Amino acid sequence: MSPRGRRTVITAALSLAAVMLWPSAAGAAEEACFDRATQPYTSVVDGHLHFRPFGGQAVPFEEMVGYLEQSGVKHASVFGIGQRLPVDSPCTYYLDCPGTPVLPSLKNDVVNAENVVDYKPQDVDLALSMTFPDLAHPKTVPPGMRLLDKEFPGMFRWMGEVNLVKQAILPNLAEPADLDDIRRWAPFMKQLRERGMPLTIHSDLGNNDNPTEFLYLMREVLERYPDNKIVWAHMGLSKELTTMDPDRHIAIMKGLLDRYPLLTLDLSWRVLEDTYFSKPGIREKYAAFFDDYPTRAIPGTDFVASRDKSYEVYAQELEVTSRINKAMGDEAFRDIALGENYFRLLGIDDTAPPICTA
Ligand SMILES: [Zn+2]
Repeated sequence: MSPRGRRTVITAALSLAAVMLWPSAAGAAEEACFDRATQPYTSVVDGHLHFRPFGGQAVPFEEMVGYLEQSGVKHASVFGIGQRLPVDSPCTYYLDCPGTPVLPSLKNDVVNAENVVDYKPQDVDLALSMTFPDLAHPKTVPPGMRLLDKEFPGMFRWMGEVNLVKQAILPNLAEPADLDDIRRWAPFMKQLRERGMPLTIHSDLGNNDNPTEFLYLMREVLERYPDNKIVWAHMGLSKELTTMDPDRHIAIMKGLLDRYPLLTLDLSWRVLEDTYFSKPGIREKYAAFFDDYPTRAIPGTDFVASRDKSYEVYAQELEVTSRINKAMGDEAFRDIALGENYFRLLGIDDTAPPICTA
C-alpha cells in the first residue's frame, strides 16, 4: 500500500471510530469529504498526458512534474508520443510538415523511464506508459516490451497512447492498422492481460462526411480482445469529426460500454469541450451520459510537452478539459474527476474522498 493510501485508510478508520464513539464528533468525518462548493472542479488525475513532443525540445521533466504539483494533479500517465518526427527534421508539429514521416519510437519511452528513475517524484504518482507500439507492425511489439522490461523492470504500468487510425497523421505517411493487423496483436494483448495493463488507443470514429467510417476497427479490437482493459482516447472524436449528432455518438458509446465491460472512455483533449460539450444543450446530454455510466470514464488533458509551452498552457488545458466535471452529479464527479476510475484501472491502492453532502 502506498503511504498515501495507508494514510487514507487510517484517516478513514479514525473518522469512523470517532463517529461511532462520539456522535457529536461527526464533524471530524465531514472534514475528510470533498466539498464541491469550495474545492476546485479541475480533475486531480491526468490520464492522458504526453511528456514528450512530436519533435524538438520537451518541457524538462522536473518542470513538467512541477506543473502537475502546482495545478493539484496527484496522479498522471507518462505517455511518450505515438508519432515522432525524424531527429533531423526542423518540424515540431506534424501538421506543419505533410510528407515528413512520423513513426512511433522506443526513444521517448526510454527517455521518460530514465527521467522517472533519475528524479523519483515524491508528491505526484506517475504511471509510465509504453508508447512505442506500431499497431500496423505488431510483430515488433513483444521485442520492444522485452527491451523495456530488461532495462526498466516492473516500471511500465500502461501502454499507449497508440494510434489505430488517426486521420490527422495520414499525410505524414503513417500507416493505419487494418483488420488483419488487429488479429496479429494477440501475443502482446495476452501480455497486457497478464499484467493487468490498460491500453489507450487513439482511433478516430470517423469524420464529418462519414461519422462512423472507422467504427468497425474499434469494434474488431473490442470483439477480439474483450478481456483487455481498453481505453478509447477522446471517445473517438477529433478535429475531423466536429459535427456528429451527440445523441448518435452517445448511443454508440453506450452500446459498446454495455457489451464490453472492460472498455473505458478517455475524455481528454480540449477539442471535446470546444466542439461538443460547450455547445448549448450538449453539455447536459454528455453529463447525463456520464451520470448513467459513472465508472466508465477517465479524464485527461492530452497536453503535449513541447518547449514552446508553459505552465499557463497546461493549467488552461486542465481547466478547459475539466469544465464538463461541473455538470456531472456527485457520483460521476468522484469517479471521474477525483480519480476513483483511474485508481481502479491501474490497480492503485488509493481512494477518492466522499463528496460532502449539504
Ligand atoms: Zn494524445
